[in-house]
Amino acid sequence: MNIHEHQAKAVLAEFGVAVPRGYAAFTVDEAVEAAKKLGTPVFVVKSQIHAGGRGKGRFEGLGPDAKGGVRVVKTVDEVKANAEEMLGRVLVTHQTGEKGKQVNRLYIEEGAAIARELYLSLLVDRETSRVSVVASTEGGMDIEEVAHATPEKIITFSIDPATGVFPHHARHLASALNLKGALAKEAAVLLGQLYEAFMAKDMAMLEINPLIVTEDEHLRVLDAKVSFDSNALYRHPEIVELRDTSEED
Ligand code: ADP
Ligand code: MG
Repeated sequence: MNIHEHQAKAVLAEFGVAVPRGYAAFTVDEAVEAAKKLGTPVFVVKSQIHAGGRGKGRFEGLGPDAKGGVRVVKTVDEVKANAEEMLGRVLVTHQTGEKGKQVNRLYIEEGAAIARELYLSLLVDRETSRVSVVASTEGGMDIEEVAHATPEKIITFSIDPATGVFPHHARHLASALNLKGALAKEAAVLLGQLYEAFMAKDMAMLEINPLIVTEDEHLRVLDAKVSFDSNALYRHPEIVELRDTSEED
């Protein structure tokens, strides 16, 4: 079972993870309201569908030169125009199949100044019952592509749930992502927060792609995809509630 990006970010924020500010919008008016509330110099209008590859996706019925499912704009008027174009339209990405998915909600988020895009995911290794951490400096691309083209750029290690996160895990992560000094410390804090969220919510997979280094040298979770084991759901009515509001779109 999956939840939307904005819901995943809200769950992570509960655990102290730094995510950009943003508001979900189901209508053009709500998108405009969201942009006004944000009041930032750059807005990102993000299609909320249960599939990745939105940025490089294509909307049906728009020309090949039209922008994809994630749009960076600078004014409230542009948020409005893009929301009008995107809401109700079918977005086709390499993960949706040819039929695509209709965009019924948007996430209006503050724009981040990106210096580097990294990849980080946590998943349950069923064979060992450990949590595998997968990290790469090659963020913003499909991890499958990276695995195919440059497998040496993917670093994995695992965490034993019996003992949890140790400082050597954090050091391993920082070195895998080529983060030093204050950024390495942020990576250590982030790993602890993500691991705590992962365990507390019985996640099966948590993928952050990209995790970014901002121009002012901080880590930010820019995209988050969470899936849950259906067995875990009865312990988490709050997640079942999210599912009930997100299953249809
Ligand atoms: P998807 O993986 O479905 O394409 P992402 O959320 O990863 O969607 O967005 C695609 C790309 O858009 C990111 O790799 C990043 O470069 C850019 N992007 C996404 N959110 C923001 C943001 N808040 N600020 C600036 N750029 C963003
Ligand atoms: Mg992404």
